[in-house]
Amino acid sequence: MPRYDYRCRTCGDTFELSRPMAESSDPAACPSGHDDTVKLLSTVAVGGSASAPASAPRASGGGGGGCCGGGCCG
Ligand SMILES: [Zn+2]
Repeated sequence: MPRYDYRCRTCGDTFELSRPMAESSDPAACPSGHDDTVKLLSTVAVGGSASAPASAPRASGGGGGGCCGGGCCG
């Protein structure tokens, strides 16, 4: 179940809730019971791949198929 971050505008507290995606925008009471909360942008579920290389070298493939498909080596 995805987790969402919320912030209470009454006491300024931030808290997490695990709830179904369908209820992600529903009102969520803070642990202190306040209803005036806002959902924060979650860092979950968006695979941040800033450090991944753009693409792996696959010029001379050796297992991906492509050559054998045409019958040149089979
Ligand atoms: Zn609160």
